Amino acid sequence: MVEQITTSSPVYNFSAGPGVLFADVLQKVQSEMLNWNNNGYSVLELSHRMPEFSSMLMGVKQNLRKLLSIPCTHDVLFLQGGATQMFSTIPMNFSTQRDTVDYIVNGYWSRYAAKEANKYSPVNIVGYANDSASCPDQSELRLSPGAAYVHYCSNETIDGCEFDYVPETHGVPLICDMSSNFLSRPIDVKRYGMIYAGSHKNVGPAGLVIAIVRMDMLGKCRSFTPTMMNLTEISLNMSMLNTPPVFPMYFCGLTVQKLLDMGGLREMEKINMLKAKMVYDVINQSNGFYSVRVLGKNRSIMNIPFGLHNEEIQNKFLMEAKKAGLLGLEGHPKVGKCRASLYNAMPVEGVKRLVEFMAQFQIDNTPLKLCLAEARDTA
Ligand SMILES: *Cc1c(COP(=O)(O)O)cnc(C)c1O
Repeated sequence: MVEQITTSSPVYNFSAGPGVLFADVLQKVQSEMLNWNNNGYSVLELSHRMPEFSSMLMGVKQNLRKLLSIPCTHDVLFLQGGATQMFSTIPMNFSTQRDTVDYIVNGYWSRYAAKEANKYSPVNIVGYANDSASCPDQSELRLSPGAAYVHYCSNETIDGCEFDYVPETHGVPLICDMSSNFLSRPIDVKRYGMIYAGSHKNVGPAGLVIAIVRMDMLGKCRSFTPTMMNLTEISLNMSMLNTPPVFPMYFCGLTVQKLLDMGGLREMEKINMLKAKMVYDVINQSNGFYSVRVLGKNRSIMNIPFGLHNEEIQNKFLMEAKKAGLLGLEGHPKVGKCRASLYNAMPVEGVKRLVEFMAQFQIDNTPLKLCLAEARDTA
């Protein structure tokens, strides 16, 4: 989020990803762009062979361990290929051709992950939400005995559907795509075999995937797996099998430091709940002018898709929002409608501007006779 130079009021970016970044982190990057850490060169020129890189990376890992309380049973890996590539990396590393793998499917990304995995191992869909408007309850999960792992997506970015619990898998490794709610609240890392997240939703610019993997999961990679997707090799080589994405790693390090300075993930959760409540409140109080499909307990605190009653008014909403400096409110091309993403770096002030705009837009676009009828009802 940066102040626009041509107008006096700031612009707020609500897009789902690459998304909003902390303004002061961006400023820090700018201030040391030409001279990183007083070394006399830019971080963009930093070679991963230099000792300065190794100490930077070590610092990022240590801070991430601190922020998430990552136990020593788990390694932190930095990968490329996006979260999407992980959909194939996971079965190649953690299952054999004959193993059943369990997938909970309740939205676009978890469905995609299951489809990719099915190329490598028989997939069992163990929990299913056809309309992507909720997450299956624990009691609805039909876990396969002896599955190699259970995969789920803790926050469906497109559908705005977030798990309100961690699935209990009775000893089967649990793998979670946390791309869009990673670092939004505290998590109990030891419950997971692996957590992974693309960097460009809530941590930094695109180009990096952070994976936190329980070390005893490694060492079972299939022989045909490309070396670059072999998590055992990546772990053994300290995430430096080839030239790593130095800049996003550096940027993520600054974000993690910022979150520690802000008081950690408990604090972030409080702020994130408050921001989400502001938006859901204005929707709930709109008498159906704005609508949300997702059921109450699964309403995401990071991504809030909402609709207006027809496409014409939706387009008008998006156009006027843009004019008011509220950007990126378009929904995913596969779903349409509107969506507000409220990642860590979105300031409360930005959400306040959004909800004020939404309330005013509703007033301005409610036909007069409806207003009169409402006034009569409440009189
Ligand atoms: C964005 C997203 C992905 C895809 O990430 P890429 O880095 O573009 O591959 C996967 N899963 C979830 C939950 C996402 O939000």
